[in-house]
Amino acid sequence: MLHMSRPMHVAVVGAGIVGAAIGWSLARRGARVTLLERAAAPATASTGRSAAGLRHQFSLAANVRFSRYGAERFAAFRDEVGADAGFRRVGYLFLVPPRDAGRWAADREVQRAEGALVERWSLEELAARAPYVALDGLAEGSFGPRDGVLDPHAATLGYLAAARALGAELHLDTPVDALRGDRDGWRVASGARSWRVDRVVNAAGAWAGEVAALAGAELPVVASRRDVFVTGPVTGLPLPTPLVVDAETGVWWRSEGERLLIGRSNPAEPPGFREGVDWRWFEEVLEAALPRFPFLAAVGLDRRASWWGWYEVTPDHLPAIGEAPDAPGLFHAAGFSGHGVQHAPATGHAVADLVVAGGSGGFDLTPFDPARLIGAAAVARTEARVV
Ligand SMILES: Cc1cc2nc3c(=O)[nH]c(=O)nc-3n(C[C@H](O)[C@H](O)[C@H](O)COP(=O)(O)OP(=O)(O)OC[C@H]3O[C@@H](n4cnc5c(N)ncnc54)[C@H](O)[C@@H]3O)c2cc1C
Repeated sequence: MLHMSRPMHVAVVGAGIVGAAIGWSLARRGARVTLLERAAAPATASTGRSAAGLRHQFSLAANVRFSRYGAERFAAFRDEVGADAGFRRVGYLFLVPPRDAGRWAADREVQRAEGALVERWSLEELAARAPYVALDGLAEGSFGPRDGVLDPHAATLGYLAAARALGAELHLDTPVDALRGDRDGWRVASGARSWRVDRVVNAAGAWAGEVAALAGAELPVVASRRDVFVTGPVTGLPLPTPLVVDAETGVWWRSEGERLLIGRSNPAEPPGFREGVDWRWFEEVLEAALPRFPFLAAVGLDRRASWWGWYEVTPDHLPAIGEAPDAPGLFHAAGFSGHGVQHAPATGHAVADLVVAGGSGGFDLTPFDPARLIGAAAVARTEARVV
């Protein structure tokens, strides 16, 4: 390792998909990796509750590039990591109203400039290829043929197994409760146990702000509950469907086997670790969905299969990826605001390069700089929601 006679020792806090991807990427770069996870098993927090979608259709070039890298890595996961990430390129289909068509056209330029495949579907194409959509009030569809869904649990376990094969240690039931930095590195503690390391990576998801605070650092990440409503088996739909998003209402759904997953973020959901499926919200989701997707009227809900989880949200809905400006040697990789599964491979690659060699893995990490979220910079950006 550069400038060191022994391998750099890095503690990674959190074994969701982001911590796992970083752990594996660091181990491949020759670092000694110690992964510390509070829960009894990996991937039990946001990662295990994700809707598991990957799309290239973002407005921000840096996000498109992260997704493109993620799609390529998940497709090659068996060869590169040694497990099946379950990636299926079912596509994402956005339904665009006339008011937004100009913005979508501009976004497609950004996406294509980043090498993403994205198709504009006319209403005739929509009628032929997505007959389950009511077309009233729509201008077009925007379809990403390389978008898809994966199995985040399998991907996380795959990363962890591959990291351990390279010498990484994984400690479960290990909540990190103290982080102290000094001239020689960091002391990371969990109860009576402690580790002396050179660097720390904060991949603690919705709890990343709390982990940052242990080191005296500031990181505004809040939990925000999201529901995934699951239907009973459906008939008459061409399966698998793409992940379909009605851009006007924010209602999304996709098939999983013979069932559908349905969701829509609730703008009135207060931040915090609120638990349980919000059934009252389902009524509103359905009401918003039915005019666009009338077939849903005949589909039954499976309450016991439905679930909820926490998004880990920053003020501008972009992640914090980089060294903490207020705690040198601590690196944040958190606050993915609903995109952490698809962006985990790129984050792992970028953070490993950053920690080991001061690079960025070839990515533009400027929009994700943690410094933007701190103090005065954060106030100026609070209203800027750039995805
Ligand atoms: C309903 C829902 C739908 C979603 N849909 C999508 C989607 O379609 N596509 C997509 O890309 N993303 C989606 N997401 C977001 C995605 O799931 C997250 O962005 C991603 O899982 C974040 O991964 P993570 O590893 O950072 O966090 P997590 O999976 O939450 O992992 C963080 C880990 O840190 C551990 N931890 C916390 N504090 C400590 C501590 N002090 N010591 C040790 N360990 C600690 C936790 O136990 C946890 O295991 C969705 C999320 C939800 C809830």
